[in-house]
Amino acid sequence: MTAVSLGMPAVPAPPLAERRASRRIQVGPVAVGGGAPVSVQSMTTTRTSDIGATLQQIAELTATGCQIVRVACPTQDDADALATIARKSQIPVIADIHFQPKYVFAAIEAGCAAVRVNPGNIKQFDDRVKEIARAARDHGTPIRIGVNAGSLDRRLLQKYGRATPEALVESALWEASLFEEHGFRDIKISVKHNDPVIMINAYRMLAEACDYPLHLGVTEAGPAFQGTVKSAVAFGALLSEGIGDTIRVSLSAPPAEEVKVGIQILRSLGLKERRLEIVSCPSCGRAQVDVYKLAEEVTAGLDGMEVPLRVAVMGCVVNGPGEAREADLGVASGNGKGQIFVKGEVVKTVPESKIVETLIEEAMKIAEQMEKDGTASGEPAVTVS
Ligand code: SF4
Repeated sequence: MTAVSLGMPAVPAPPLAERRASRRIQVGPVAVGGGAPVSVQSMTTTRTSDIGATLQQIAELTATGCQIVRVACPTQDDADALATIARKSQIPVIADIHFQPKYVFAAIEAGCAAVRVNPGNIKQFDDRVKEIARAARDHGTPIRIGVNAGSLDRRLLQKYGRATPEALVESALWEASLFEEHGFRDIKISVKHNDPVIMINAYRMLAEACDYPLHLGVTEAGPAFQGTVKSAVAFGALLSEGIGDTIRVSLSAPPAEEVKVGIQILRSLGLKERRLEIVSCPSCGRAQVDVYKLAEEVTAGLDGMEVPLRVAVMGCVVNGPGEAREADLGVASGNGKGQIFVKGEVVKTVPESKIVETLIEEAMKIAEQMEKDGTASGEPAVTVS
């Protein structure tokens, strides 16, 4: 295996690109666009009319790190539940409206932090924009124009033949222009497609064509594995170009999983502060311990640790010592023993059976020290050897 540096850099790497300059809107207390940090969003899977279950799921999402949550609003019962949910949720609630313009007004009245409208499938939406803009302005409610390949405006489908990037962007900008005619610009836009290539092209075009903040999403991305890969690839491409202000990973999996993936994508790109990171070698014919088992046990033992700590778990003495030395904490295994490194120094050598507990013990000590030094959040200060 090729040796790579595992240590957190002493000075955080600069971002891959300057963030695209976008106008700022407020989704409740969360600033979106205009240089605000990229936010992670998800959507509840409960019936919104079941207020208890919806609030319970929102609480779980909040605990996982979700910053903005969207709830579906297909019926009057759901619309009736919005006020309570918006009031009791700890994070801003966006109402997701399809088909019925009356629910747009209900959501605004209910105090939702924003309303998502899908112009392709709201009846006579264009005729109601003036009233919607007035109500939204009166209540300080931003509107997300959420264009979706699966429900593209029929006129544009006829014009382009299918949901091309041009069609998605034209639909979004057309609807934005209707709001602009009434002086309303508190808008966020998404142009989702299930194909990352089309989606990336659509967002690039949109980013060039307007200054509205953009909500990234690969729609119907699929089951957890496929959806994670698709979203990571698509968001990675766009975010590395500075495009994107909020993200939602859509998975056919519990929404908390979407949030975890979203957070990890942002952390991988240095767009969100890093926490605990386990770096383990892939193992190979030289491994002298069961690296997978060791990595799993260390991961489980350190689960929930909030400090930005990089822990290296290496399988042998060929590359192991060099690699482990460059992490905050690490082990290089061999001959039934593990050399434990802390900040570049070997602190002890322990028998294989003691590796996990020793790493956990040392991690706790470092975490405690970080808390005392005030370095327990943000990028860690690490000695790179
Ligand atoms: S066992 Fe050693 S050589 Fe093999 S991947 Fe792990 S650290 Fe690298």
